[in-house]
Amino acid sequence: MADLSLFTTEQIAALLAALPDPAFIFTRSGKYAALFGGTDARYYHDGSSLVGKRIGDVLNAEKAAWFLAQIAVALAKRGLHVVEYRLDRKDVKGLEGDGPDDTIWFEGRAQALDYQVDGEDAVLWVASNITTSKKLEALLRMQSETDALTGLANRRKLMQALNDSHGLHARYRTPASVLIFDIDNFKDINDRYGHLSGDKAIQVTADVCRRELRTTDFPARLGGDEFVILMPHTTWEQAMPIAERLRQRIADQLRELGTLGQGATISGGLDQMLPGDTSSEEVLKRADDALYRAKHGGRNRIVHHGA
Ligand code: GH3
Ligand code: MG
Repeated sequence: MADLSLFTTEQIAALLAALPDPAFIFTRSGKYAALFGGTDARYYHDGSSLVGKRIGDVLNAEKAAWFLAQIAVALAKRGLHVVEYRLDRKDVKGLEGDGPDDTIWFEGRAQALDYQVDGEDAVLWVASNITTSKKLEALLRMQSETDALTGLANRRKLMQALNDSHGLHARYRTPASVLIFDIDNFKDINDRYGHLSGDKAIQVTADVCRRELRTTDFPARLGGDEFVILMPHTTWEQAMPIAERLRQRIADQLRELGTLGQGATISGGLDQMLPGDTSSEEVLKRADDALYRAKHGGRNRIVHHGA
């Protein structure tokens, strides 16, 4: 702690005013009692007009209630409380039509003060703009979960979705089906028509999945010419006609593509989650066994594991 006796009051005021991140004093009831700093003009609008207002005058009811709750937590802790939050144009009263275009993400560090302000408990709330790192984080997360060639979910994201579904099935017996399918004789397609035509076939297959499936269904590219569709809230009997339709539409589209000669077909294996499944790997394994049989049964077909 600096020896404040070395500073004049004016110097202390100047130091506080020079803080790059805005530091608010909020009372328990949500009053903006004071504001220091916030000089980093890259990130902050001038907040000086807020002083004397209440959070509920500035932010909509839901956001204001959230702030009050966080202030209460910081006060109950009697220490530092760190939170992340976003402010959108719709959160700020009077800005619905012409506020900042983008969402701004903040890290708020709320520190309970050990004296009262305006007759109330109060916190010091430092708001740091973390939008740049949040955007980067979101981009990296999206990239780490997306297959670059098709834009579908990749294996990692699929495994998360399967685990979530397995959790719901284990707890509530919510049905879920898994279709795994693979393009027939894809090596020949690559050899005969070139790797780029092969890539195009994979992209078209992904497009058909996106178009034909319900928004709750979850298509993913497992790798190579292999795809998986997770169908939540769907028994295998309900999933079978969906899988059949997909098989036909993909064959139609790959024929229409015109660059693959006769086109190409897919084979698929289907099963649903079962009460005894200890992990989501098990249904995937059963669907894969069924796919193996579809291949050996002559390809261009969907086989249910129990068939
Ligand atoms: P099957 O009917 O038994 O599935 O025969 P297949 O020839 O399709 O055999 P398999 O599924 O094992 O082969 C998939 C091939 O897909 C192997 C690999 O050369 C090719 N491949 C994997 N990834 C890509 C890719 O991203 N683009 C292209 N063009 N080809 C790929
Ligand atoms: Mg194949």
